[in-house]
Amino acid sequence: MAETPVPTAPDPASESTETRSDIVHLVRILSLSAAVALFFFTWRNAYVTTDPQWFGMVMVSFGGILVANLLLHLLTDNLAQLRWGFIATITAVLIFVVLSGVEQGSGVMWLYVYPPVVFYISSPRFGVISCVAGWLTLAMALTPLGRILFSVAEYPLPFRIVLAISLAFVMVFSYLLDRARRQHAERLRQMAEIFEHAATHDALTNLANRREGTDRLAREFARFQRSNTPFSVILADIDHFKTINDTLGHGIGDQVIQTVAKRLTSGCRTMDSVIRWGGEEFLVVLPGTNESDAVTTAQRIRQQIVERPVTADGRPLEVTCSFGVTEIRPDDAIQTLLQRADERLYHAKTTGRNRIISERFGYGPGTR
Ligand code: GH3
Ligand code: MG
Ligand code: MG
Repeated sequence: MAETPVPTAPDPASESTETRSDIVHLVRILSLSAAVALFFFTWRNAYVTTDPQWFGMVMVSFGGILVANLLLHLLTDNLAQLRWGFIATITAVLIFVVLSGVEQGSGVMWLYVYPPVVFYISSPRFGVISCVAGWLTLAMALTPLGRILFSVAEYPLPFRIVLAISLAFVMVFSYLLDRARRQHAERLRQMAEIFEHAATHDALTNLANRREGTDRLAREFARFQRSNTPFSVILADIDHFKTINDTLGHGIGDQVIQTVAKRLTSGCRTMDSVIRWGGEEFLVVLPGTNESDAVTTAQRIRQQIVERPVTADGRPLEVTCSFGVTEIRPDDAIQTLLQRADERLYHAKTTGRNRIISERFGYGPGTR
């Protein structure tokens, strides 16, 4: 790409593929475990406990819904359906468990599973909303009024108090831990992006560096071999740059390199790659471009460099570049292509500089 932006903070709501597959695995395991637990308690309802028989019917139905949700996901591959189907079902299971007091009221212990799971597999926002709403509903349901309104099972008062307070703790800590987990994952992702950018770009100009440029060239060459799509390269070198460095200093030299890099970039299409190939030498890779069109681009770049002086530390400087242009040929290797561009650049240097040399054209100063 001609213009390579510095990485910016990504959308925190977006989930990477890895996170998505983690969630799919987790929800699958949780759904299966919850279904097995529900079938186990259905069996206990039929043969062991003294709870009403319809409790078993309800639990086996919820187990069936969880399995159906899993099977549907195998067909649709829709993460939202898997995730929200699971959350809705376990929310319903927990409401049933609290209201009915299954297994002599011990079923409410399952409430502690809800906060960490819902924070992990949904969004922080949904986690907070569902935990606050869930806790308020529970607190209300555990009052005498709640018992009348919802016919909640009888729980001893100390148990109700400890349940409400300890569940609030679990909810708050689930939120804090989940937030820390998300922040760390995000920070790691951003750091990886920054390191990746630093490894592939030049710090002075923010252009692709030689390593990245070599990869892009190899990709373009592979495309040429695969589908015969032509491409061309322009090798550009600042003229008499050593003199600028020697007379005005390295700092001014750096500013000149930066300005030339910008003018090179603005003279190219976004699909072209502008690469800082060496000190004051640049390689432009032009995909799908023949030599004559590449020469037109080089003319535009040369024009943009010479048409106004380069300002460094407020001082106007006349800067020119020389260019070697060539198109890939069927019997070329990458090395022979680069060698040809280099020979043409050398030719441009030895015939007066500030000019473009290609197979058919030799353009000097003032020519179009
Ligand atoms: P020609 O017209 O033949 O290209 O002459 P030139 O003086 O431009 O060529 P030469 O290759 O002799 O000089 C290139 C100089 O660029 C030498 C090196 O010290 C300087 N250079 C390389 N990288 C940088 C850089 O990042 N900053 C600065 N300021 N100078 C650099
Ligand atoms: Mg030079
Ligand atoms: Mg040079």
